[in-house]
Amino acid sequence: MSAKMHILKGDTVMIRRGKEKGRRGIVKSVFPDAGKATIEGLNIVKRHTKQGQDGGNMGAQQTGGIIEKEAALPISALQYVCEKCKTPTRLRRGRTKDGVAHRICVKCGEPARESAKGA
Ligand SMILES: [Zn+2]
Repeated sequence: MSAKMHILKGDTVMIRRGKEKGRRGIVKSVFPDAGKATIEGLNIVKRHTKQGQDGGNMGAQQTGGIIEKEAALPISALQYVCEKCKTPTRLRRGRTKDGVAHRICVKCGEPARESAKGA
């Protein structure tokens, strides 16, 4: 198992490759088993749907049977962006004095936000 990435839902990330290389966004969902994540507003794909399939409950996102949604990107194509120093960087695992595990920015040494339990 890869221990390199510690991206969690709600993190800011930058896309490292592909047509949206360099763009930043907030992680919307992480799929650890697939090694993929979706990022709000990035890597949008248009999906055609059959009329009435969703019971007309998709709100503004649905226009004429086309749904726009974020497609998952490989986590390996994402770079964590530190909230404190705003730098695309990496995280290392560390522990505070009381033994609590934290993700720590290798650039500025600040602990990253922790996810809600189960996120
Ligand atoms: Zn930092």
